[in-house]
Amino acid sequence: MPELRRDPVTGRWVIISTDRQRRPNDFRIERVGTIGREQCPFCPGRESMTPPEVLSYRQSGGAPNTPGWDVRVVPNKFPALQVEGTLDRVGEGMFDRMNGIGAHEVIIETPDHDRPFAAMSEPEIERVLWAYRERILDLKRDVRLKHILVFKNHGGAAGATLDHPHSQLIALPVVPEYVREELDGARRHFELKERCVFCDMVQQEVHDGRRIVQENADIVAIAPYAPRFAFETWLLPKAHGARFEQTPRHVSESLARLLKAVLQRLDRALESPPWNLVLHTAPASEEAEAYHWHVEVMPRLTRVAGFEWGTGFYINPTPPEEAAKVLRSVRL
Ligand SMILES: [Zn+2]
Ligand SMILES: [Zn+2]
Ligand SMILES: [Zn+2]
Repeated sequence: MPELRRDPVTGRWVIISTDRQRRPNDFRIERVGTIGREQCPFCPGRESMTPPEVLSYRQSGGAPNTPGWDVRVVPNKFPALQVEGTLDRVGEGMFDRMNGIGAHEVIIETPDHDRPFAAMSEPEIERVLWAYRERILDLKRDVRLKHILVFKNHGGAAGATLDHPHSQLIALPVVPEYVREELDGARRHFELKERCVFCDMVQQEVHDGRRIVQENADIVAIAPYAPRFAFETWLLPKAHGARFEQTPRHVSESLARLLKAVLQRLDRALESPPWNLVLHTAPASEEAEAYHWHVEVMPRLTRVAGFEWGTGFYINPTPPEEAAKVLRSVRL
């Protein structure tokens, strides 16, 4: 059973994997590189290599756990957290820990091993976003799960150990620190001004234009004012909404369109860099109307080094105004 432990100084939770014998090759895999097509457990025909699916979309039919799927969601074979058990929050002298209750799922985005996100059609990307939504809605019914995070690692340097296009979903028994900070900030702004900080940001950025990468009717992609990473790009819905999973379908379609365009711009401007994507939606466990869901895309162009580890603040070599200008000028 994995365990959550809380740092007594900062209050930050970490997951300690106690199940070592189930993942003996982890450190070796990272050094050797990614798992190729020959052994890929996500390719059609190898459905038995993953735990049984919890969701699949099958336009051409077919039984669960057999080929014929377009999108397939399965529990992670090496989960960071597990669903069975109770939270059992206990003190150990001055320390706090709890059982690592949660869910860890893999969204296999396409049956095609060599079809990265940016190469998928807009309806294909939208189908993946819809799978995120359906899994979030399902997992939210479990009251032990306080926050659900969807993320994607693209490229070995971004932490992907499998080439086959996939995203991951982690449902946590606590709200992670970074989301907490954003939520607290949004609430502070709301108390002060009775407006959403993200809505204010969208309005000012659209009016100003310097940091706009691209926009459509429902979504705007911006280089945020104070980005941690070079070419960091956020995609925000123009209409206020705290929760991604409650977004109407047309907004989800607009997001798919803009996400594809942004990833293509990054690929062309920066020669297909590795990147991480995170979906930030309001915690499942609390009233959070001041929050405003969004997607953050972070290309991995520089390494996080001692200064960042030591201070928690980042040195970004590219001003966002310049990044946005470069990305805007890419011809699609
Ligand atoms: Zn594959
Ligand atoms: Zn808002
Ligand atoms: Zn965020």
